[in-house]
Amino acid sequence: MKLKTFRGGVHPLYAKELTSHKSIREMKAPSILVVPLQQHIGAPTKAVVKPGDEVLMGQVIGETDQPVSAKVHSPVSGKVIAIEPRPHISGRSVLSVVIENDEQDRWVKLDTHFDPIQLSREEILAKIFEAGIVGMGGAAFPTSVKLKPPGQAKIDFLIINGSECEPYLTADHRMMIESPDDVILGAKLLAKAVGASKIIIGVEDNKLDAIKVLEEKKGSDAISIVALDTKYPQGGEKQLIKALTGREVPSHGLPFQVGVIVHNIGTAIATVEATRDGRPLIGRVVTVTGSGVSEPDNLYVRIGTPIKDVIEACGGFNGEPGKVIIGGPMMGLAQFDLDAPIMKATGGVLVFTQDETVQYDPMPCIKCSRCVDVCPAYLLPLRLEKYGMYDLWDEAADYGAMDCIECGCCTYICPSKRHLLHWIRLAKNEIVSAQRRQNS
Ligand code: SF4
Ligand code: SF4
Repeated sequence: MKLKTFRGGVHPLYAKELTSHKSIREMKAPSILVVPLQQHIGAPTKAVVKPGDEVLMGQVIGETDQPVSAKVHSPVSGKVIAIEPRPHISGRSVLSVVIENDEQDRWVKLDTHFDPIQLSREEILAKIFEAGIVGMGGAAFPTSVKLKPPGQAKIDFLIINGSECEPYLTADHRMMIESPDDVILGAKLLAKAVGASKIIIGVEDNKLDAIKVLEEKKGSDAISIVALDTKYPQGGEKQLIKALTGREVPSHGLPFQVGVIVHNIGTAIATVEATRDGRPLIGRVVTVTGSGVSEPDNLYVRIGTPIKDVIEACGGFNGEPGKVIIGGPMMGLAQFDLDAPIMKATGGVLVFTQDETVQYDPMPCIKCSRCVDVCPAYLLPLRLEKYGMYDLWDEAADYGAMDCIECGCCTYICPSKRHLLHWIRLAKNEIVSAQRRQNS
């Protein structure tokens, strides 16, 4: 059978066998949690608690009245001991609510619903908003906003992204195997919320056990489980849409413009928890892995748990760590402060040993064009790199820098070890800043 795929991409070492067989284990919540008031794309939330307040598990601690934002809830019951800037995985300090855990896990009153699929579209959207759900695949875009595309956009396909194409990560894989009914129900709820008649769950063919169990559980012809070629970045929205529907999202465009909305496995499950159980998003599954961790594992972790505690829950470091990355090795963010907490969109903590973190100095470009061949966005990375290096922002924009999905394939494949993505990111930031200045 010919597998669905896209043009370009690379085949890095997947290294998923470290954790793909490990069942999800709930990590005990730490004694102190640090919950950032901004964990999503959009406006930050405003604290609605103050130091000294007692909070219940699931209580709103960050409220919003902004159109693009997501509420923040307490992941434990306990006492607010500070609201102050704290380290964040972005490298900045972000205003955060610091909570002392009373270890009682006393919930707020939950509004449960026996059969959530009976809820109306508006009720599903309202519960997703109340639960503070965001895209849990890394983008952290508020889900209730994504489900209301602008204008009269007609959505016919809902895609659930089960590709988990980043090497090392296995959180989505385990959720598909361990909670297939919730993945299917979550997909149906999301489809109802956006008015989509067809659901496709795309899964890379290195997770055949997940494909099998979802196929057994789907129970409706409106849902297709489709095997995708194992290739990075298969989970990129535009790449996934092209592979599964043949539709091409236009340059500078968004999926709704071609009648498609994409959501992640974790988002589907969080939608079930919000609508059926009344539970807000206060925890998530995180893969803690790499040869620098003593006991790699898949953990259910409360939002706000410091990275150092998560590593400790997996036996601590294995030898001297060289690099700690939040996310996968291709698109993840290297960390310098392990007090930064796990957030709603954090799917992985990856630790490399010192031996594995070799730094290369870039060498001259040999015009081999490999970066062009692998670019899934049809760009010329070597040219964009030059524009980034020499402050040629208009030229970078003309050559499509804003279509770069920052997958890192160009940097990965370059035999001269050039820092292509670094310069392209810089160009993108400068283009966005210039547009903001123009509009202000
Ligand atoms: S230019 Fe951007 S989209 Fe293309 S390979 Fe490089 S990082 Fe990926
Ligand atoms: S892959 Fe590296 S060496 Fe080859 S053309 Fe691109 S930038 Fe130059």
